[in-house]
Amino acid sequence: MKRFLQQTPEFSSRLPDVGTTVFTVMSALAAKHQAINLGQGYPDFPCSRELIGLVNAAMLADQNQYPPMIGIPELRNEVSKKIKKLYGHSYDPDKEITITAGGTQGILTTVLCCVSPGDEVIVIEPAYDSYRPSIELAGGLTIGISLETRLGNNGRIVSYSIPWGKLSQAINTKTRLIIINTPHNPTGMVWKNADLNHLADLVKNTNILICSDEVYEHMVYDNLEHQSVARHPLLAARSFLISSFGKTYHVTGWKVGYVAAPSMLTDEFRKVHQFNVFTVNTPMQHGIAKYLLNSKPYLELSAFYQAKRDHFRLGLANTKFNLLHSEGTYFQCVDYSNLGIPEAKLKEDEFCRWLTTEIGVAAIPVSAFYKEAIDSSVIRFCFAKQEQTLINALHKLQKI
Ligand code: GLN
Repeated sequence: MKRFLQQTPEFSSRLPDVGTTVFTVMSALAAKHQAINLGQGYPDFPCSRELIGLVNAAMLADQNQYPPMIGIPELRNEVSKKIKKLYGHSYDPDKEITITAGGTQGILTTVLCCVSPGDEVIVIEPAYDSYRPSIELAGGLTIGISLETRLGNNGRIVSYSIPWGKLSQAINTKTRLIIINTPHNPTGMVWKNADLNHLADLVKNTNILICSDEVYEHMVYDNLEHQSVARHPLLAARSFLISSFGKTYHVTGWKVGYVAAPSMLTDEFRKVHQFNVFTVNTPMQHGIAKYLLNSKPYLELSAFYQAKRDHFRLGLANTKFNLLHSEGTYFQCVDYSNLGIPEAKLKEDEFCRWLTTEIGVAAIPVSAFYKEAIDSSVIRFCFAKQEQTLINALHKLQKI
């Protein structure tokens, strides 16, 4: 009897096609081979000491018990003010803003609260790898459509754009949600105002909701503006806007973000949120709320990262990699098909393994952002790194 009790019963996986995320796998490989990790997206430099001081002060002031389920009012108020100031839309901090344990939880909770079994959800690939499993957990069907690519003279991808024709064809009465992401991970593409107008036109006479992943909202280059759904009343009325303090304040490990959505949608979001994480750690919320009073850190972030992007691109220009556009995010994609070595024929994931173990620089295969990997010989580097890290990585890449 005892023996049987110890046997774990068989069960069928809720996510049969899912393994460990590529970010975790590549970071582990980089650590094992002491490679410079330009794979997983996170900064290798410290966050603000002032921010740490504010969190520390909150802890010492005994702000360590459960905060309100929806997040502390001070933080929701500051988020509401920031969105209003930058994008013009007023979200009621009590009824329309919820503090989440980072962007990924905001996305999962959004999907769980509005997708029912059989509903279709459109994602635009390459797409962040949590979208599809979130939809599967809700019982929804993922409809993946690929970004359009623009090819350079050498026939290789230079940049991406929204596939409006395919998007419009994919919409039908079963479509419940469209997940969009700007600035876009992994391509660095940034939506333009015309893109938001186009999307609004497509959904305006439907019941389709939008999940807008804007976690890189403060990293937009070359004088482009971040096009939040909060700039567009018709879209704001049907959107869950997701953002992340981890990205903005160089604290990816803190896992604090927010979701802004009209009250009717927020009511449903919170029903799931309360039984998902219930609430998000208290002292970080207090520290971030105070830090948000100063708009400088987030307003200066684009210039800060643009300098890194430019430095990294300049160095990459002295390699045999072909550079793709990067208008936003802290990612730079490159094409490796012209390296003139046998490894240039490898598939993206094999190439990234080779680059990590043999060259000592970790990257992420863009194929990991597709269900049916279209192998385009494009990999993603993260340039949210100290100057010296980038110099060391470039040195290795220039030797190939
Ligand atoms: N968003 C980050 C990236 O794309 C990683 C997040 C994660 O590791 N889950 O690299």
